[in-house]
Amino acid sequence: MKDLTEFLDINGIPHAARRASDITTFKVGGPCTVVYPGSERELISVVDECVDSGIKFVVLGCGSNVLFRDSGYDGAVILTQSLNTVRVEADTVYAGCGAPLHTICRAAYDAGLSGAEFAYGIPGSLGGAVFMNAGAYGGEMKDIVSSVTAYSVADRRTVTLSREECGFGYRHSVFEDNAFIVLSASLRLSRGDKAEIRALMDDLINRRKTKQPLNYPSAGSTFKRYPGRYTGQMIEEAGLKGFTVGGAQVSEKHAGFVINKGGATSEDILNLIDHVKAVIKEREGIDIECEIRVID
Ligand SMILES: Cc1cc2nc3c(=O)[nH]c(=O)nc-3n(C[C@H](O)[C@H](O)[C@H](O)COP(=O)(O)OP(=O)(O)OC[C@H]3O[C@@H](n4cnc5c(N)ncnc54)[C@H](O)[C@@H]3O)c2cc1C
Repeated sequence: MKDLTEFLDINGIPHAARRASDITTFKVGGPCTVVYPGSERELISVVDECVDSGIKFVVLGCGSNVLFRDSGYDGAVILTQSLNTVRVEADTVYAGCGAPLHTICRAAYDAGLSGAEFAYGIPGSLGGAVFMNAGAYGGEMKDIVSSVTAYSVADRRTVTLSREECGFGYRHSVFEDNAFIVLSASLRLSRGDKAEIRALMDDLINRRKTKQPLNYPSAGSTFKRYPGRYTGQMIEEAGLKGFTVGGAQVSEKHAGFVINKGGATSEDILNLIDHVKAVIKEREGIDIECEIRVID
């Protein structure tokens, strides 16, 4: 890491020793080095430097779908929060990878554009949402992405992919498979009635407040949907609501969420997840998969 620190200092790229618990919505995880590139050029230069120096790295947006270990992360955590431009032209929103989804949704609303409402309330960045093909209430990023500009780490070049080339599937994209870093994307929306757009955004936020344990740290739905089944419902039917390991708990409000009740360790959360998986396997005979990503 010494090489990287020198590189960052020489190039004036901000960085800091932090704890993963300070930069993730789960509020869990040990020490790590966080890098804050201020431009796409800086982001790419940091990634290239990590590859050249054999330093592990992970690119994060809002840290709302990840779980770090208690031991921390022995590499560079590259946060995209400064790459947050949002611009609207005609019926298209152009956004940088670090732009929060709520900022994008508000910009779309201001311009009278409909289609992004489903994403209002997902506490992630554009980059994380494209990477995960985030979705809610019947909408997914794949429905609105028209193209994505990404950096291919292996080829060291920037490419622009059409929606079809993004390989979107349920909580999946080509960016996961091919070590691409999402730099920006254009979202194609359609003209709508501002009052109706606002009403839908407000309705979706209210539904979240009613159904989700938003007063506790979490990373959202812990498990992916099993084809044709609601995982939260299976967990509830197994009597696991409120099941607790240390500071981690299957939310009493929504069994699909594992929450940090206070002082949870990463180990608590992972042990709880293992228990839930084992119970569902025994009851239903199926393997449920995590939606949250463990950063090793
Ligand atoms: C309360 C709550 C509610 C949620 N509700 C929903 C929901 O309704 N629907 C849903 O889909 N998700 C939901 N989530 C999960 C999460 O918010 C989304 O998956 C979101 O899209 C993640 O974005 P992020 O910027 O936080 O990604 P991060 O957590 O920072 O990263 C997630 C993954 O994306 C990768 N990544 C991030 N940025 C980039 C980039 N620029 N290039 C390449 N890879 C990148 C990371 O390496 C990591 O593997 C919820 C989470 C919480 C806490």
